[in-house]
Amino acid sequence: MFGLIGHLTSLEHAQSVARELGYPEYADQGLDFWCSAPPQIVDTIKVKSITGQEIEGRYVESCFLPEMLATRRIKAATRKIINAMAHAQKNGIDITALGGFSSIIFENFKLEQIRQVRNLTLDFKRFTTGNTHTAYIICRQVEEASKQLGINLSDATIAVCGATGDIGSGVCRWLNARTDVKDLLLIARNQERLTGLQEELGRGKILPLEEALPLADIVVWVASMPKGVEIDPASLKQPCLLIDGGYPKNMGNQLQYPGVFVLNGGIVEHALDIDWKIMDIVNMEAPARQLFACFAESMLLEFEKLYTNFSWGRNQITLDKMDLIGQVSQKHGFTPLLLSY
Ligand code: NDP
Repeated sequence: MFGLIGHLTSLEHAQSVARELGYPEYADQGLDFWCSAPPQIVDTIKVKSITGQEIEGRYVESCFLPEMLATRRIKAATRKIINAMAHAQKNGIDITALGGFSSIIFENFKLEQIRQVRNLTLDFKRFTTGNTHTAYIICRQVEEASKQLGINLSDATIAVCGATGDIGSGVCRWLNARTDVKDLLLIARNQERLTGLQEELGRGKILPLEEALPLADIVVWVASMPKGVEIDPASLKQPCLLIDGGYPKNMGNQLQYPGVFVLNGGIVEHALDIDWKIMDIVNMEAPARQLFACFAESMLLEFEKLYTNFSWGRNQITLDKMDLIGQVSQKHGFTPLLLSY
């Protein structure tokens, strides 16, 4: 059985979902209440591969909210993730993806040091960040959506916001080795890590976000921002392809501007309908078919009976692993979401 540990994007979102799902006792509560709410399994999932194989999974809502980080409720945030992992393991889930901020919190606050949760010893082999599949899908989105817009990568400048992150560094490695992209712009806050990445790649210009945006034909957004930044579309090139893989989204405003194309990043479409409610809740456009690539990674590992933490730690995503997860992704009927204009 596979599992998905997820969270909602804001307190307001959580309150409206609680109302919809029939948990009125959660719907009118503020952040303090969510800080003490235990994890819950709120969905049972059945997925069929195009090979005919069928698997079953569970969605575990961690009750983490990004506002917990913004208001420095770190203890609550870390407890949410550890308790959700313990809940998944206790319920017999073999491989569980740590969606969105779950893996970021796990890494940032070194939660590998907390193995014991009451009477349960966490077995980290049962968890995966899902970031290898996410990085692979974002790279495929760059390659395919640029073709849709007539952008030649050999003439293009790609800015990666969150370049030194786990997903961002994987994306940079792929773009550097597997495409003939003209220029790479590397964006993040920590200069030392940026220089390290630049050395590893042997290329890439380090620029602040506001300087990079007007130069980019394509922007890949994979920064771990609890709240999105507002950008002025008039400052962008035309055409400009913006692939926002953040959860919550890195871009704080909805852009509707001539020549500016926004693609939901790190999202896959499955060839067959999936029997679940959860993608409705996160406002996916085609909830029976579209899902986060990190969630799809745990499904793929379950299909392949690869019960191992395929994606783990930071900056460990290799091209070989991206190839492997990419092959099984295609084999089971997942494709990257593209522009539908
Ligand atoms: P990491 O924590 O590994 O990396 C985050 C990156 O963002 C770092 O480079 C960090 O560098 C940078 N960053 C953070 N804040 C800012 C800022 N204000 N301005 C510029 N750069 C910033 O995160 P992941 O790679 O694991 O995840 C990245 C994003 O992808 C998250 O939003 C996550 O929720 C989302 N995600 C999406 C998935 C999907 O399936 N679509 C799956 C998993 C994650 P520095 O701190 O130096 O600024």
